[in-house]
Amino acid sequence: MEHNLYIYNTLSRRKEQFIPIHENKVGMYVCGPTVYGDAHLGHARPAITFDILFRYLKHLGYKVRYVRNITDVGHLENDADSGEDKIAKKARLDELEPMEVVQYYTNRYHKAMEVLNVLPPSIEPHASGHIMEQIDFTRKILDAGFAYESEGSIYFDVEKYNKKYQYGKLSGRNVEDMLETTRELDGQGEKRRSVDFALWKKAAPEHIMRWKSPWSEGFPGWHIECSAMGTKYLGAEFDIHGGGMDLMFPHHECEIAQSTAALGKESVHYWMHNNMITIGGQKMGKSLGNFITLEQFFCGNHKLLSKPFSPMTIRFFILQAHYRSTVDFSSAALEASERGLSRLMEGYSRLQKLTASSNSSVDTTGLRTKCEEAMCDDLNTPIVISYLFEALHGINLIHDGKDTISASDLEELKSVFTLFVEDILGLKPDNQASFEIEAYKHAIDLLLNMRLEAKQNKDWATSDKIRNELIALGFEIKDTKDGFEWKI
Ligand code: ZN
Repeated sequence: MEHNLYIYNTLSRRKEQFIPIHENKVGMYVCGPTVYGDAHLGHARPAITFDILFRYLKHLGYKVRYVRNITDVGHLENDADSGEDKIAKKARLDELEPMEVVQYYTNRYHKAMEVLNVLPPSIEPHASGHIMEQIDFTRKILDAGFAYESEGSIYFDVEKYNKKYQYGKLSGRNVEDMLETTRELDGQGEKRRSVDFALWKKAAPEHIMRWKSPWSEGFPGWHIECSAMGTKYLGAEFDIHGGGMDLMFPHHECEIAQSTAALGKESVHYWMHNNMITIGGQKMGKSLGNFITLEQFFCGNHKLLSKPFSPMTIRFFILQAHYRSTVDFSSAALEASERGLSRLMEGYSRLQKLTASSNSSVDTTGLRTKCEEAMCDDLNTPIVISYLFEALHGINLIHDGKDTISASDLEELKSVFTLFVEDILGLKPDNQASFEIEAYKHAIDLLLNMRLEAKQNKDWATSDKIRNELIALGFEIKDTKDGFEWKI
């Protein structure tokens, strides 16, 4: 198959023509979420970026095996080799089994992806379901001589690896400098060098997520899961590996080192990274108070949001920027996206109702090629969107009777819009009604919670006012042991 798809390879730092290993099959791996909290904008961007790539590769005729993992073990606090496991910590705080936390947030992640119209991957492996594979992979690295055992844990020997291969080439770090600046700290803990990273960690007595291994009862390091599962499902060499730019170092750098050490050569042909979303120019973070979950966007339930924003508005907002540019979020920017999306969808539905004339007074024939070319130029979705807007102008002129379109041109225009708007960009008419119902359900809950608070404070006047006015509007309200129930 011959296509002129060019994608930016983070490893070579240039756009390269995409040539798959196998004629018409593509293997693609993307790092998925660590499931210990609700998905936010930072999760939506890689999911949508690689959804676009998945859709476009399929459109080009490839059979794509898309693997997106769920991290449910081994990801420790601060992305470090020490500290508590993020899932175990959440389980301890909520008094749940770690796998209850995993299931709960995995379900919620799936729900968020579904409303964002992100297609499910072909395989979604869990790290905790692939402990054997991770132990085997670790053993391969040990056998190759690029790891060592220390107090029941296994660490990757970065310095030794760097003598044969090159550590740091993806993120552009110089390992000699890293070794130099950390020299005094080295050899004080279990690791020989502070740049070394864990492949297997012996579990401390209080650590609840643990498995047997040849070295100790413990758990895998964070990075080894992607090397092990990528190899298992896509082979020792595969086409594309993606993720957010924040994963480039250390996660992806370590993945390259692990796979090269174990298999003797590099696994991945094209590394792709989406850029980050900032809020008011700042990085998103729980401690900065600017951390907005997707659900809060959909309900408008956050102090930085002027109103609720539908999942399609979020999707369109992300697609309006090229995936390698940063995106700065603000309520005003989302409102602009909302207006843009509704203009696009109105034009799309207007197109369905146009009537054909005997000939065309406007030329709409180049649209398909222009959109294909933009997609082939490293998935340039903002340019595709700008071409669709240009075409909208023509559609409006035809609609107003100022221009005409022939039957065959009209068919072609409809087909291009369906292909790019629905199939490739994955935009669909917002179910505004159900979305508004969600927001209004939250408003009723909010009022009834305020009433509950008023009751607790013995503020009967407020409590009765809320109750009576809701009843007057046609609501039925029932007090229960845990709070309230309501219906219309
Ligand atoms: Zn990963």
